[in-house]
Amino acid sequence: MISSVITPKQLTGQEQTHLIEFAPNRLLHKQVVKDFTALQLAAKQQGFTLHIASAFRSFERQLQIWNNKYSGRVAILDKNEVALDCKQTNKITETEKLYQLLHWSALPATSRHHWGTDIDVYDPTLLPLGQSLQLQKSEYLSGGYFAELNEWLTNNMQAFGFYRPYQNYQGGVAEEPWHISYFPIAEKCLPLLDETLIADTINKASIQGKSLILQQLPIIYKQYICNINQRK
Ligand SMILES: [Zn+2]
Repeated sequence: MISSVITPKQLTGQEQTHLIEFAPNRLLHKQVVKDFTALQLAAKQQGFTLHIASAFRSFERQLQIWNNKYSGRVAILDKNEVALDCKQTNKITETEKLYQLLHWSALPATSRHHWGTDIDVYDPTLLPLGQSLQLQKSEYLSGGYFAELNEWLTNNMQAFGFYRPYQNYQGGVAEEPWHISYFPIAEKCLPLLDETLIADTINKASIQGKSLILQQLPIIYKQYICNINQRK
């Protein structure tokens, strides 16, 4: 199916022609810019500096993240945000490792960040001096330094077309309060990302765990890609 919103190569992070550079190294889908700018402005009027931590991410970048974690070069976190050390990683099965990884990191070709519709946001002016951004729940939820921003987003972003696909943990991707998605475009992207397109893209890539991924793909597709929070 040919879509005016996004092509298969764009959908899987392998082409960037649907994007424009919104800020240095921060690329957004062309049709997201207007409403994200409006959201930023509305936030500004309430005293928040809404910045992008991460917008578009390419297939290559996601592949690098994936391979670094799968090979153990970068630690995989457990569900409590604690790094599994090498000994633990050696003890768990390959399949357990795959699902630990999927809890935090999208399979390349399936990241919503490929679409340019999904953005990780924060407010640099609310970070304590010397503190770097962690993208952890404790920063955003009650008591965290982004809690007020988070609440403001909850109450206001829907008017600009944004919502949180990972608002609550429901057995797939972790709860990610910082991750917002532009619904009018993202809802058209998700149905275009089918298992055949994912399998074809994975097959051609130098990806760690390829045969296990392809074997588990029907579960991954259902539990981590389609299993998002619905917009209320
Ligand atoms: Zn994200």
